[in-house]
Formats: sequence, structure tokens, C-alpha cells
Amino acid sequence: MALIVQKYGGTSVANPERIKNVAKRVAKYHSRGDQVVVIVSAMSGVTDGLIKLAKDISPLPNEREMDMLLATGEQQTIALTAIALQTLNVPAVSLTGAQAGIVTDGVHTKAKIDNITPKKVREFLKKGSVVIVAGFQGETPEGQITTLGRGGSDLTAIALAAALKADLCEIYTDVDGVYTADPRIVPGAKKLQEISYDEMLELASLGAKVMQSRSVEFAKKFGVVFEVRSSLNENPGTIVKEETKSMEAVVVRGVALDKNQAKITLVAVPDKPGVAARIFKALGNATVNVDMIVQNISHGSGTPATDLSFTVEKADLLKAQKVIEGLKKELNFSKVIATEKIGKLSIVGVGMKSHTGVAAKLFESLSQTGLNIDMISTSEIKISVVIDLAMGEAAMKAVHAAFIG
Ligand code: ADP
Ligand code: ASP
Ligand code: MG
Repeated sequence: MALIVQKYGGTSVANPERIKNVAKRVAKYHSRGDQVVVIVSAMSGVTDGLIKLAKDISPLPNEREMDMLLATGEQQTIALTAIALQTLNVPAVSLTGAQAGIVTDGVHTKAKIDNITPKKVREFLKKGSVVIVAGFQGETPEGQITTLGRGGSDLTAIALAAALKADLCEIYTDVDGVYTADPRIVPGAKKLQEISYDEMLELASLGAKVMQSRSVEFAKKFGVVFEVRSSLNENPGTIVKEETKSMEAVVVRGVALDKNQAKITLVAVPDKPGVAARIFKALGNATVNVDMIVQNISHGSGTPATDLSFTVEKADLLKAQKVIEGLKKELNFSKVIATEKIGKLSIVGVGMKSHTGVAAKLFESLSQTGLNIDMISTSEIKISVVIDLAMGEAAMKAVHAAFIG
């Protein structure tokens, strides 16, 4: 008998037929004597629909109320999944994130899990029930409903697997596993048998939305080995685990394209100590995550000035612009330019640590596609470039062909 945590994403519970399919799969494990905890997402499109509703009312809706609203998506699915299991005569009970003991900080729309006390989950498992937990949501110690950032049901699953010391953690989705690139964009992408936490973390935070990046961070921290696989067939998926020596033989494990970034440029910012600190502190205080930052050399005589560009998530663009506009008088830059028409293309692999010439090969394949590079950033195991969004997918295919074939 094993304790198994399974997570089913939005497309796996997209309609009544799919929910019945999930129930059948879960029932199989239950009948074999396993204890099963099921985490479900909102039905596909529901979260986006709720966000749209709110934005039709206000362009920058209050974040506490957004959490109140978005948490309802998963609450629908847990009840429907429990009903589907009960129809198969499998004892099942649904729990909200709060009922499952998921306690978070108070940063609405991207809360962090502080601790989990899955007392009720354990009680119901002991009684022989399948326990269905709403993904993506938690509660502050004061009782405020929070959500864990887009794709946050992955985090609920990994965190519950860690807290329950589960024997197995399975992330069910609409593809067979983690591929060398998004298989919907790059038809030649290959399924990976295994991938290290660090590579998965980079790919996820660079746009491969198959896993939420924070969930991978959590898995690495607590050593939760998990498998990404399809809810629509029985194929083995991809195992995500600690790096092994043999993984370094592969230079580029995968290619990712992030279409959800936006770029803000502050033109002619006075070039003096403390200015960058002031800008990024203000953005941090507004809980805007800044990713790439590029500052050019000073130009102009008299008071030297520089252009400062940085990227943020599209969802944070309005908020970031508001913060920056608020600093205009104090910092005296000439203007702000914002664009959503950028894509961030990245290559990732632990093998980069021990191979040379990777950047040159990347830039060469981009130049052959006639692409101009806007910004570049690197780390030990990745290289990212910001390019024109319209060229993003073509560039991704070219780079995948150059490195993976
Ligand atoms: P779920 O609703 O199950 O959480 P998501 O839509 O969040 O599913 O993630 C699955 C999707 O991630 C796939 O349909 C695929 O298009 C996309 N994806 C992006 N990059 C990759 C990759 N490297 N490997 C597999 N899927 C990827
Ligand atoms: N429903 C949430 C979202 O769409 C969480 C998730 O699916 O993991 O982002
Ligand atoms: Mg997802």
C-alpha cells in the first residue's frame, strides 16, 4: 500500500467526461489499496475567464478580491471530482486549501506557503477516503484566502507530497511529460526520460509552463521526486530529480520561450548612485518581480544620463508602470517606454557548466534567422535573449534544431 499524491491540471478536468476519466484513474489506485490524495486545478479556461470578468470591471482589481474570486475555480472542480468518485462507489471527500491546512503569507495573488498541517487529510485517508484538495489556494493565519500564482496547483501537489511524506508524486497533464521544447510549438521536440531539478526550474521559470517554477523550487528544497505524465494514456512520463553525473553529458536539455514578459525602458535616467536602488526597491515594495535588467553607459555632458531597461511579467506591467510614473518627479528621467511585444528565448542545460562555445552557437543560429537580439542574460546553466515577440516561435524552432536536432 502506497501513499500517492496525484495532481490533475485544467485540461485533465476540462469537462464532465474528463472528470469522470480522472475518477476512473483514481479509483484504480484506490481499489488496489493505495491511499490517494488528488489535487485538481480549475477546469481549463475558468481561471482566465474569472480574471477577464474582473478586468472588465476594473483594469487593476484589488488583489485580495482577486484571490477570493480565483479560488472559486478550484472549488468547483474538487466537488465535481468527489461526486464523480462517489458515483463509482469510491468514498471521496473534497477539501479547500485552507481545510487541507495550507497556510500562506499574505501576498495576495502570489502567496508563499509558510507551513502545512494536513491533519484533516490524514484523518480522511485513515478512514479509507480519497481526499481531493483544491490546488492553487491557501489561507493566511488570519483566515484570508490566498492564491499561489498562476499554475499554482503544481505547488499544492508538491508541497502536500512533502508534508505527507508521500511515496509517489505524479503530475498529470495534457502532454506525455517534459519535452526538449513545448511540443505544441516545436513538432520535433523529444520527450525526456529524466531531468534535474535545476534544469526543470530554469525551463519552468523561463516559460515552459508544464510545471510552475515555484513548485520545482519547493521539490528541490524538500527532495520530492516527481513524475510528469499524461492523464489521457498510460505512457511513462518524465522523472524530475536531483542531478546525476551522466546528466552533464548533454549540453542543452531544453529550449523555452516566454511570451509573458513585457519590457519597460526609462529614458535618460540621471546616472548617479542610489537611483537604481530607488527604482527597484519601489517595484519590490509593490511586489513586482523584475527579471532582466540592462543599463547602458552614460551619455550626455553636464549631468550624465543613461537608459535603463528591465522586464516584468505582463500581468504586472500596469502596476509597474504606475510605480515608475510615481517616481518621475523625484528621479527626473525624461520618459517611460513600455512594450508587450517581446519574447524571451532561453536554452538550458547543466552540461553548459563544462562545455564552451554555447553562446556563440546560439547567437549564430539566431543571426541565421535574421533576428536582432535586444537583451542577453546568462547563468551557469542557461542563456536567455529578449527578441521580437513576432519572431519568437520561428527562433525557438531554429535554436532547437541547432542544439537538439
Ligand atoms: P495543466 O493544465 O495540466 O497544468 P499546463 O497547460 O499548465 O497544464 O502545462 C502543460 C502545457 O505545457 C503543455 O500543453 C505544453 O503545451 C506546455 N509546455 C511548454 N513547454 C513544455 C515542455 N518543455 N514540455 C512539455 N510541455 C510543455
Ligand atoms: N487554476 C490556476 C491557473 O490557471 C492554477 C493551476 O491551474 O494550476 O493558473
Ligand atoms: Mg499548469
